Amino acid sequence: MSTDKLDLTGHIALVTGGSRGIGRASSLLMASRGADIAVNYHTRRDAADEVVAAITAMGRRAYAVQADVAEAAQVEAMMKDVIDNLGTPDILIANAGATADDLVVRMSEETWDHVINTNLRGTYLTTRAALRGMMRARWGRIIAISSVAGIRGSAGQSNYAAAKAGVIMFIRSVAKEMGSRNITANTIAPGVTETEMTAHLTPDVKQHYLEELLLGRWGTPDDVAEMVAFFASDAASYITGQTIAVDGGLSA
Ligand code: NAP
Repeated sequence: MSTDKLDLTGHIALVTGGSRGIGRASSLLMASRGADIAVNYHTRRDAADEVVAAITAMGRRAYAVQADVAEAAQVEAMMKDVIDNLGTPDILIANAGATADDLVVRMSEETWDHVINTNLRGTYLTTRAALRGMMRARWGRIIAISSVAGIRGSAGQSNYAAAKAGVIMFIRSVAKEMGSRNITANTIAPGVTETEMTAHLTPDVKQHYLEELLLGRWGTPDDVAEMVAFFASDAASYITGQTIAVDGGLSA
């Protein structure tokens, strides 16, 4: 038994959108600290398989599982699949997210619904599914990935900002319901982070953000993963209902 409070040996984490970007970095870091990982993906099996192979090479167990987090039946099937093949997760990283930017006056209902459903409904559905096992275990960690957009708002991203603000209050409410069960629930709000999600931004937009970043650089997936792994660990056992920005000072 390790005395290192950051050690995650014996825990099983389900990471939604664990195949790329922040979810991938979080999966790898938690595995390096001893956790077994269920790597959820939506469309890109190859990326999930690569993460699973990297975790297996570390001597940990990992399992790739496909599901659209916005679809209740798929989330329920995913949870059953993970329990059957890896065990019951006691850590959930509700990370899967998507953007589809447009100005409000031009935004279609489909674009609005897609972003709200992936980011907010997906967090609700996966949290609901994960809580059952955590309540039985009387130990659990829910960590959701919001965004600085959910704190400050973001022109051209009203759907995304609304969803990410919703994630913050959803998770705080979960913390209030679950504290007596020894289950913590916290949210991380990354700033601009180098992943495929931000790869399409124009040089002008990238420069604009750079000027606002107190630390003078974009974030990396590893910057965010450090906070994910901390919240998942016993080192964070007295922290719940909180939102921490990992954003180089963007929201300061
Ligand atoms: P990314 O590189 O685009 O990766 C997105 C991940 O989510 C992929 O694994 C993708 O799976 C998965 N995914 C997308 N839609 C899904 C769905 N409906 N069901 C299940 N999985 C789905 O994104 P990222 O930048 O790492 O973002 C991770 C989280 O951080 C998101 O919640 C995002 O909103 C948030 N965030 C990112 C930034 C940033 O600057 N990058 C800033 C603030 C917050 P497939 O590849 O299989 O489709």
